[in-house]
Amino acid sequence: MPIQPEGAVILVAEDDPFMLRLLGQYLGQEGYQVIEAPNGKAALDLYVLHWPDLVLLDALMPGMDGFEVCRRLQAIAQGNPAPMLMITGLEDEKSVDQAFAIGMADYVTKPIHWAVLRQRVRRLISQHRLEIQLREANYQLQQQTLIDSLTQVANRRRFDEYLLQEWGRCVRDQVPLSLLICDIDHFKHYNDHYGHPAGDRCLQQVATTLKQGIHRPADLVARYGGEEFAVILPNTPLEGATVVGDRLVQSVQNLSLPHAMAPTTAVTISCGIASVQPSANGLPSDLVLSADQGLYQAKAQGRNQYQAICVLPNGTQPPFGAVMF
Ligand code: GH3
Ligand code: MG
Ligand code: MG
Ligand code: MG
Repeated sequence: MPIQPEGAVILVAEDDPFMLRLLGQYLGQEGYQVIEAPNGKAALDLYVLHWPDLVLLDALMPGMDGFEVCRRLQAIAQGNPAPMLMITGLEDEKSVDQAFAIGMADYVTKPIHWAVLRQRVRRLISQHRLEIQLREANYQLQQQTLIDSLTQVANRRRFDEYLLQEWGRCVRDQVPLSLLICDIDHFKHYNDHYGHPAGDRCLQQVATTLKQGIHRPADLVARYGGEEFAVILPNTPLEGATVVGDRLVQSVQNLSLPHAMAPTTAVTISCGIASVQPSANGLPSDLVLSADQGLYQAKAQGRNQYQAICVLPNGTQPPFGAVMF
């Protein structure tokens, strides 16, 4: 599908006022929004103000020439500037080579052949817009590979990546890392009684509730397995993690989703909590094991509760406490 260049913003830097007006008028008639810069310095200022789709640069300008503007725009836009087209009276090979070498997308020579300029401008803007669309699509695709399609929280792959990443960060910063594993109670009975589609909707509601129950930007809720969710809490000690665990268990209960086959008659979760001061020779999988152990205890103690375990460098402490609702 062709991308229409109409309405694009073009920044023109040209020190000859007559030429600048001429370019402005011509491109304006072509349907572009033109920003006129009388010198290189003004071009830099106007670039960050308008973030144009294309930059036309006169090669020779007093003070800062087109080549220098091109270099600086690369830095300003962190290597990803709008395409730049050089307008040059310099027809010698060296200048043309230099223009391409520093990242100019194309060039036209003076006196300007207007039909050529028109085509090159159209092509560069269309290409640039297509590139932006592709980048965005790629980003979305990459995001999709990290999200669980049913519940829209992070998936297991993202969980594994993030746990490893935050483990490393907590080692460096010498701060604790906590992990919660939450499992829906009697969920097999729920599916058997209400059917799988209802079970899926229940999973979605629980996932949303868990997501709403965590507040720090670094916290992550992930679907860990079928009806199990994990919550990573970086830079959080056991006490803080139990506050979160308490809140999550409560908030799922407060949803009051009917569960005819559960003793509480509502959907509830059990939660295992583990906290550790990560060290370079420790393993994130030990933290997962401990949270799993906490979950097992929460189930054994009657469900709809959390059990917290503090992992010591030399092994595992006895349960920190259990709370029933
Ligand atoms: P407990 O309280 O001990 O956790 O009992 P439970 O029945 O929840 O535990 P169990 O592990 O025996 O059952 C998990 C059930 O979760 C099995 C399956 O019916 C359900 N389940 C797992 N993944 C999905 C899913 O994607 N959709 C639906 N609808 N159900 C799922
Ligand atoms: Mg000039
Ligand atoms: Mg389970
Ligand atoms: Mg379960």
